[in-house]
Amino acid sequence: MEKNIAVIKGDGIGPEIVTEAMKVLDKVAEKYGHKFNYEQLLMGGCSIDANGVPLTDETIERCKASDAVLMGSIGGDTTKSPWYKLPANLRPEAGLLKIRKSLGLFANLRPCLLFSELSSACPLKKEISDKGFDMLIMRELTGGLYFGERHTEEVNGVMNAVDTLKYDEKEIRRIAIKAFDVAMKRRKKVTSVDKANVLDSSRLWRKVVEEVAKDYPEVTLEHMLVDNSAMQLVKDPAQFDVMVTENMFGDILSDEASMITGSIGMLPSASMNETKFGLYEPSGGSAPDIAGQNKANPIATILSAAMMLRYSFDMNDEADAVENAVRQTIKDGFRTGDIMSEGMTLLSCSEMGSKIAEYI
Ligand code: NAD
Repeated sequence: MEKNIAVIKGDGIGPEIVTEAMKVLDKVAEKYGHKFNYEQLLMGGCSIDANGVPLTDETIERCKASDAVLMGSIGGDTTKSPWYKLPANLRPEAGLLKIRKSLGLFANLRPCLLFSELSSACPLKKEISDKGFDMLIMRELTGGLYFGERHTEEVNGVMNAVDTLKYDEKEIRRIAIKAFDVAMKRRKKVTSVDKANVLDSSRLWRKVVEEVAKDYPEVTLEHMLVDNSAMQLVKDPAQFDVMVTENMFGDILSDEASMITGSIGMLPSASMNETKFGLYEPSGGSAPDIAGQNKANPIATILSAAMMLRYSFDMNDEADAVENAVRQTIKDGFRTGDIMSEGMTLLSCSEMGSKIAEYI
C-alpha cells in the first residue's frame, strides 16, 4: 500500500521524536512492502519564524490532501520565548486549535496503557498497578460545554455567569460510531460516561449511544456516571476498554487516566474526523527543558504512529508489530531518562528509535 503522510515535526523535542517515529515507519514499510511518502510541513513556533503565523492555509490544504498527519509537538518556553510576546491568535498553540477545527477533528483518542515493567511509576496501590491496564478514552472535541453559548452579566447588582452544555443527536451519533468502531479493533467493550441522572444533554447522549450500539452486537455497552467513572479509574482501571464521553468530562478523565500511567513520554493520542483521516501526536508538549539534547522519549510518538497504521490505514498487523516492538524494548530493560530505573540500560532518543525499529 502507498500512503501520503503529512509530517509536522514542530518545536522543541518535536523534530527529535518524530524523526524516530519515521524511522520505525520506514522499517514497517520495508518489512510489509508498503510505501510511505512524507511531506514535511511547518506549524507552531517554527512557522511563526518562517511565515509570521503559527499555521498557514497552505499547510492546512497540504494536510487535507494527505492520508494522515503525524505531528510532534509545538510551542516553546512560555516564560522566555519571544513567541509568547505575540497576541494570543499568533502564538504557537493557536495553530493547534486551528488545525483541529479546519480538519474537522471531533474525536480525540487517548490510549492509557500501563506496561507492567513500568508499574512502579504508577501512583496507584501495588495490587492495582500490578494488574496493569490498557484502555482508551474517546473524548468529544468540538461540542459541549466548551463550545456552548456563554456570557457574564450583572443582574440586580450581582454578577452572573452562564455556560451552556449543548449537543445535538448528530454530534453524539458520530462520536458514538467512532467509539464502537475503535472498540471493534480492541476488546469490544464501550463504557459511555455521562451524568444522565441530572443533565438533559446526558439523557440524549445515553439514548443515541444505545441506538448506535444496536449496529454493533459484538460490542458490550455499559453506561457509567461521570463521578463514578472518576472513582473507578483509580480503583480498577483494568475494567475499561473504550470509554466515550463528552468534551469536558473527557478533558478531566483523560488527564486522570494519563496520570495513573506515570509517564507522559509514553502516551500517544489521535484526533479523527468522520472518515479514517486523523492527526496523530504524543500527549506531551515540546519539552523545551530537554529539547536538542537527544534525551526525549520517542515512544509516545512511535505509538501514535502505530495508531495511524491501525485507525487510518487499517494496517492492524503492522500496528501490532510496532506495539509489540515497544513492549519488547521495555521488557528487555531499555529506557530513556524519563523512565529510567536502577539496573536498566539508558538510551538516547535516537537509540531508542533504532532499538524499536530493530525489534520490528
Ligand atoms: P511538556 O509536556 O512539554 O513538559 C512537561 C514535562 O514532561 C517536562 O519536564 C518535559 O521534559 C517532560 N516531557 C514531556 N514530553 C517528554 C518526552 N517525550 N520525553 C521525556 N520527557 C518529556 O509540558 P509543558 O512544559 O507544560 O509545555 C511546554 C510547551 O509545550 C509549551 O509551549 C506548551 O504550550 C506546549 N504544549 C504543546 C502541546 C502540543 O503540541 N500538543 C501539548 C502540551 C503542551
